[in-house]
Amino acid sequence: MSKEKLVVIGNGMAGIKCVDEITKLAPEKFQITVIGNEPHPNYNRILLSKVLQGDSSIESIVINDWAWYDERGIHLFTGESVTQIHSEAQYVTTLSGIRIDYDYLIIATGSSAFIPPIAGVHKSGVISFRNIEDCQTMMKYAKKYKKAAVIGGGLLGLEAARGLLNLGMETDVIHNAPYLMNRQLDRKAAEMLRKELEEQGMRFWLSKETESITGLNRAKGIRFTNGSSLEADLIVISVGIRPNIELAKKSGIETNRAIVVDDYMRTSIPNVYAVGECAEHRGVAYGLVAPLYEQGKVLASIICGEESEPYKGSVPYAQLKVSGVEVFSVGNINKEEADTAIQLYDGIRGTYKKVTMIDGKVRGAILFGDTAEGTSLLGLVKRGASISELTAPSSAADSGGLDEAAANMPDRETVCACNAVNKSAIMCAVIEDGMQTTDQVRDCTKASSSCGGCRPMVAAIVQYALRHGKEALAATAPPVCGCTDVSHELLKASIADHSYSNKNEVKVALGWKSLSGCPTCTAAIQYYSELYHPEAAKQNFSNGTDESCSDLSVGVYPDKGAGIDAEFDSRLIGQELQSSCGSLSFPSPVRAAITSSLRNPAGVLVHDIGITGAPAGWELYAGGHSELPVKQGQLVGIAETDKDAVMLSVSCLQLYRERAEYGEPLWKWIEREGIVEIREMLFDGNYQLDLVDRAEASAITKKNEERLGESICSN
Ligand SMILES: Cc1cc2nc3c(=O)[nH]c(=O)nc-3n(C[C@H](O)[C@H](O)[C@H](O)COP(=O)(O)OP(=O)(O)OC[C@H]3O[C@@H](n4cnc5c(N)ncnc54)[C@H](O)[C@@H]3O)c2cc1C
Repeated sequence: MSKEKLVVIGNGMAGIKCVDEITKLAPEKFQITVIGNEPHPNYNRILLSKVLQGDSSIESIVINDWAWYDERGIHLFTGESVTQIHSEAQYVTTLSGIRIDYDYLIIATGSSAFIPPIAGVHKSGVISFRNIEDCQTMMKYAKKYKKAAVIGGGLLGLEAARGLLNLGMETDVIHNAPYLMNRQLDRKAAEMLRKELEEQGMRFWLSKETESITGLNRAKGIRFTNGSSLEADLIVISVGIRPNIELAKKSGIETNRAIVVDDYMRTSIPNVYAVGECAEHRGVAYGLVAPLYEQGKVLASIICGEESEPYKGSVPYAQLKVSGVEVFSVGNINKEEADTAIQLYDGIRGTYKKVTMIDGKVRGAILFGDTAEGTSLLGLVKRGASISELTAPSSAADSGGLDEAAANMPDRETVCACNAVNKSAIMCAVIEDGMQTTDQVRDCTKASSSCGGCRPMVAAIVQYALRHGKEALAATAPPVCGCTDVSHELLKASIADHSYSNKNEVKVALGWKSLSGCPTCTAAIQYYSELYHPEAAKQNFSNGTDESCSDLSVGVYPDKGAGIDAEFDSRLIGQELQSSCGSLSFPSPVRAAITSSLRNPAGVLVHDIGITGAPAGWELYAGGHSELPVKQGQLVGIAETDKDAVMLSVSCLQLYRERAEYGEPLWKWIEREGIVEIREMLFDGNYQLDLVDRAEASAITKKNEERLGESICSN
């Protein structure tokens, strides 16, 4: 079968991250062509600041080298621009006249630096800071000239200025607002930042408007609107970005500030998508990597024909990459809209922390001098957490520093927002994959590989995991029961890793207080043994009474108003679910209910698993219960077909079997893990298939045992 043709315009961070996801989800589905107008493979643009500051080399910031494209059979055109999209006939043409047909097109053209209309701005010696060539130009100038000026006191301007200082240039920064990074900081934090950077050697010109660049052909300096001026041989303009949308615009695709996309990154033209800085979603065009990677994930699923949560927008955050200065900012810090929840200034340590709130919810934060808490504050802002969750007023630093913050951080909290890596993934890289250093964990998980702002926290988690090993995962968790101090997590891990031959061996190995145990721990050991070693467990662990077996009951609720087909389908789904999972044991009894109608789903939604017919397919809810206080299940996802509905339900149940603690009801497990995390796992196509396979394998083992049991009895 011939592959569908996928063409990507732009070889930058967002486009290639999306391609990477696509090749993981559906490696054989597309013939992929990427056209990028830079002469390099995909590199980490974020790290240009580090290259300029001398902390990284150009070679080391390549994310996907030439071999990466080859290995995936991707046709890559570098140094080539797409000049026209022919959306009716579905092909693109390039500057050198190449025609490339597509079935699907992704526009990922990013942004360019905004060059304001200042007289003389096109003279030689005036550059922006966007790509490798800009870095090289600055390095070249630094060898010949001494004086540099940066117009723009935002994040990138300051990073460029720090780089120029490192290159040995005298550096002035001109900013038109009264304080630095005025979009991300308040005046207090900005003043602390200015002082610190002045001590490093930067000079600032605040509230200054540039009128013109002086010099004949080559830049010689800057003249301000108030008549004053300064000398500079190199002028770096860093006053914002403009999405690259001309190509889309002239090809008839709807644009506003950027290319307008919906929640699935679709543009106004069929089969044409946009992702990254060139895309505008719900009125916002993002200029930071974390949101673009989130968009890329959604788009990859959609293009591969997978179910996907819609992209709902992101919470941007900023971390300054200037060595010796720690600055972090997230969310809404504008005092007109938000109230101050916490404001702490420590003049001795030179730290500042401010957290803002709107309607009792954490909405923004600024950290200066100590950004250890940045990761946890980002999590709170993302969740819109209640301000009662703030650990005021003892900051991480006050209460024992980063180590304590690392130890106290919830497992599911995102540590590296650029690459969506949580604490648990870092812990697993150390405990399960044997990584020993922060660099090894970075290579293995990608945590801290982009902006690097989370590196201190990643390092602290690595140290914590190395010190505490598996116990770290279980240290704070309560014991299984009074017979032991061992938690469920540790018991599970130990059973998974060892081939114990009976329950007593488990108890001896883990220091049980008494070998006889109690019904709770006995059943838990049997459950985990069946989960990890199903065949051995039945022979070695069972004592005749099937302590761990918590049944699945499936009810189909007829809807008199529904069509015969819908009724038939809901019965079929019920039968399939029963046949796939009916013989499996669960941490706690599971009640599932199915109805073909949405008109009166209340009864169905208060079950552990509730499946209801809906216009778009079957909606799967999980985590409801009818005990007081009654709890409605949360939407896990929508399945278009009956088969998909069964797959989704079976994978959800298998995930529950594998990740819940024995005795933990499904609703409690969902509250503990978080529905968003669970959805993410279930909508990873390969992972879903693996879960279904494992459920099937367990069911087969169980059925074989039952048959064996029956034949022994009848003999
Ligand atoms: C110095 C610097 C530091 C940064 N630091 C951070 C940071 O700390 N944290 C953070 O989150 N973000 C940071 N960013 C921003 C981040 O790098 C961008 O958000 C990200 O690179 C955007 O990815 P993109 O793929 O949308 O665009 P890009 O990476 O710009 O990729 C788009 C590519 O498409 C190419 N292209 C455009 N038009 C065409 C065409 N017609 N045909 C072919 N190719 C075309 C472009 O040349 C470019 O190579 C930084 C940016 C810079 C410049």
